Amino acid sequence: MERLQKIMAQAGVASRRKCEELILEGKVQVNGVTVTELGTKADPAEDIITVSGKPIKHEKKVYLMLNKPKGVITSASDPEGRKIVSDYLKGIKERVYPIGRLDYDTEGLLLLTNDGEFANLLSHPKYHVPKTYLATVKGVPHGSELDKLRQGIMLEDGMTAPAEVEYRDVDPENKQSVITITIHEGRNRQVRRMFEAINHPVIRLKRIAYGDLLLQNLKRGLYRHLTPSEVNELQ
Ligand code: URA
Repeated sequence: MERLQKIMAQAGVASRRKCEELILEGKVQVNGVTVTELGTKADPAEDIITVSGKPIKHEKKVYLMLNKPKGVITSASDPEGRKIVSDYLKGIKERVYPIGRLDYDTEGLLLLTNDGEFANLLSHPKYHVPKTYLATVKGVPHGSELDKLRQGIMLEDGMTAPAEVEYRDVDPENKQSVITITIHEGRNRQVRRMFEAINHPVIRLKRIAYGDLLLQNLKRGLYRHLTPSEVNELQ
């Protein structure tokens, strides 16, 4: 027997928190009886669980890495009709959703899954999965400016946690540099705001690693399945 919201999240209905909301809203039934108690348990193999009248499917779990191009929005739909990540997942029939997000203008490694438990675990702020970015920034930041990012810098929403920051390529002629930065948080537009705070705005931003997972040579706009050991190592 397992908690209902856990069974639902594992079946890919939504994140565990969203599943709790569905239960509280009275949208979930077990063997035909509406359940609104969050502690309710059920047997995923025996009980018939429905959400808004539809039985939940025990979908195969899918874990993907996409090299998101710039100019694509990390959400399920866009009222303005911009490109969305699922436009790049034509071969995938399961309903996957992104783990965390990348800005419209950020490219690189984006994980997607239909495993709500896994998504919840990795995006929980307590989990602190390190994320590494290649940031092309305006000008050539001084070592002491990068030290500020290493130690933590004050942003509108408070101090950032220490980050690892290294020069990757410095191009004084074109007045820009490429910096590798690893952060352990995931605040909104965090990397862009950190470089703005030292007056070296980001020109281009690409996520190249998520935990131990590397984007490597996955081509822009393409995805691949994670291997079972990659999935295990992330959790
Ligand atoms: N930091 C940003 O500023 N943007 C992203 O998309 C990810 C991290």
